Amino acid sequence: MKDNVGESKTHQFIGKASLSHKMSLKRSWRRFNMHQFKLQGGKSVEDAVNDMLLDPDVEFAEPNYIFEKQSAGIEGAPMSAMEAIDAVNAMGGADSFNQTAADINVEEAWAEMSSNSNVPIVAIIDSGVDYNHYVFVESGAIWKNEDEIPGNGIDDDGNGYIDDVRGWNFAYNNNDPMDDDNHGTHVAGIVLGTTQDILKNPSVDPAKIRIMPLKFLDQYGSGSTSDAIEAINYAVNNGASVINNSWGGTSFSQSLQDAILTAYNHGLTFVAAAGNATNNNDESPIYPANYTIPNVISIAATNYSDSLASFSNYGSSTVHVASPGVSILSTLPNDSFGYSSGTSMAAPFVSGLAAMLLREQPDINGYQMKGVVFDYSYGVGGLYGKVASQSRIDALKAIQFVQDNNLDAYQPEWTGSRSLAADGSAGGGGCGMIAKVLSKHNNKNGRNTPPWGQTTLLLSILFAPLIMMNILRIRRKRILDNRRQFPRYNIESEVKINVGGRQLVGQVSSLSLGGARIDTEALLEDGGVVTLSIESPDGKQQIQVEGRVVWSEEKKAYGVQFCDAKDDALAAIGGWTKRFGIAD
Ligand code: CA
Repeated sequence: MKDNVGESKTHQFIGKASLSHKMSLKRSWRRFNMHQFKLQGGKSVEDAVNDMLLDPDVEFAEPNYIFEKQSAGIEGAPMSAMEAIDAVNAMGGADSFNQTAADINVEEAWAEMSSNSNVPIVAIIDSGVDYNHYVFVESGAIWKNEDEIPGNGIDDDGNGYIDDVRGWNFAYNNNDPMDDDNHGTHVAGIVLGTTQDILKNPSVDPAKIRIMPLKFLDQYGSGSTSDAIEAINYAVNNGASVINNSWGGTSFSQSLQDAILTAYNHGLTFVAAAGNATNNNDESPIYPANYTIPNVISIAATNYSDSLASFSNYGSSTVHVASPGVSILSTLPNDSFGYSSGTSMAAPFVSGLAAMLLREQPDINGYQMKGVVFDYSYGVGGLYGKVASQSRIDALKAIQFVQDNNLDAYQPEWTGSRSLAADGSAGGGGCGMIAKVLSKHNNKNGRNTPPWGQTTLLLSILFAPLIMMNILRIRRKRILDNRRQFPRYNIESEVKINVGGRQLVGQVSSLSLGGARIDTEALLEDGGVVTLSIESPDGKQQIQVEGRVVWSEEKKAYGVQFCDAKDDALAAIGGWTKRFGIAD
C-alpha cells in the first residue's frame, strides 16, 4: 500500500480483495503495509495483479515469483570423510579448497586470523542445512537461538517464531531447517570451510563463525519470493551479519528489493550467485544478484585454471567479483562429502570471507564489505570485461587490509527506484543520451508546482549505473587513502522534466545512489521522448538527459529509459561536489 494509506483503508482494501476478487489474505508485513494474497482459482495471476494496480491506494502489486538454486547437483557419489581426504591428497592439496591455479589463499589467511572471540553469523538462505553433520556438530558451527527454550511451544524471545532454536523452515513453515535437498548443506560447508579446514577433525577446531540455516528452497531447489523475504527479515532481526544467496531468477521483485534494502540499512552484507546460464547479466538481469543496492555482491564462478567457468554468468558492470565454483568439495547430508559446481558454490566463498573479515572488524557494513572484497582481490586477465573488479577473491589480501586499516562506519543512503525499472526489452528502441551540460543563468522565482494528480504515473529515472560507477571509483580511492569518507552526493537538487509543452519540476535528494521519481498526471505515450534537467546544488549548472518512455510489460508500468548517461554527467556531477569543498 502507499505510504499514506492508513489502517482503516488497508482493512477496506483487504476486505474488498477477499469479497470482490475472491482472494484470501495469506500474510502481512505490517512494517511495509505489504500483503500477500492467495488466489482462489479461476483468475490468472496477471489479471489479479492488474486489478490491484487499478486501486489508487496500491503502490505496487506483483506475482509471488519463484527462484531456483544455482547449481547442477552433486558430481559423483557422496564420499566419507576418509574418501574425501584421499581425494584431496590425490589432487596434491592441503585443504579441501585447493584450487590449483585459482588458490584464494584461505590457508594463508587462517594463519593471519586474530584470536578474538567475535563469532559473526552467516545466514544461509537455501534448502536448509544438515545441522546433524558431524562437521557442524563437533565444531559447534550451527547458530543457536539462546533466547528460545526448545520444545515448549512458546515464542520465548518474541521474534515471531515458535521454538526457532536453530533458524527456520520458511518453505514448510516449521522450526526444522533440515536440508531435504543437499544444496544448502554443500553451501554451508563452503562458508565454514573458508574459515577452517572442514576435513580436519572438527572437535579440535571450534568454529569461528556461526551458520544460521534458513530454509526457503524446497526439495527440488525452488522457493518463493515471499518466503525469501521472510528469511531475509529473520536474518536481519536475529543477528546475522552476512546473508548467502545461492539462488536466483529473472523476475524483478519490488518487495524482494525492499527486504534487501532493509538488510542494507542494518549493515548486512548480501552475497548473491550471478547464475549459471552463461548470460551477460548486464543485458539479462538475474535477481537478487542484479539489485543495485550497495551491499549486494554478485559472484561469478571461476575454474581450476582461474578463468571464468563455462556455465557462469558474467557482466562487466553488474557482476562484481569471481570466486571458485567448479567441482568444489564440501559437506553433504548424512556425514558425507561431495563435489558440486555452480555460482551457488562460488558465492559462499565470499560469504565465508566476509565472516572472516568481520571477526577482525565486527562493524564492517555491507557497503564497505563490497569495497574490500572488490578491491583486495586478485586480478585475472581472463576476467577482463567479465566482472567489474576483473578479479577473483583473495582471502589473504582482504584480511591483511582489514587488519591494517580501521574502516569508519559510513555507508550512503540508498533510495533507489521505489517503483519500477525501465525495461529496455519492452519499448522497442531508442536509448536516451546526455543532451547537453550547460551553464545556467535563470531566475529562481518562476518555479511551478507539479500538478500532482490522482491518476499518477510513476517515472523512475534510473541513474543507478552511472551513480554506481562514481561510488565505486570514490570508494576505491577512499579505501586506498584510508581516510574519512564524506557523503559526497547527498545533495538536494532540482529536477525538471519536459513533457510535450509542459515542464514538471521536482526535487531530487540524495542523488548518491538512487534516481528521481516524478509523479505526474501527464499521460505519456509509449516511445515519447522526455528531457530531464538536473540542476546543480548551487543552481549554476544543469545537466540535460534525454530519455525515452517505455512500457515495461513485466512491471506493468511506464518508465524512462536512459542508456548512455555516462561521461558528461559524471564529469558534471563530480564538479558539483568539488564546488562544495569536498576533496576528490
Ligand atoms: Ca522465537
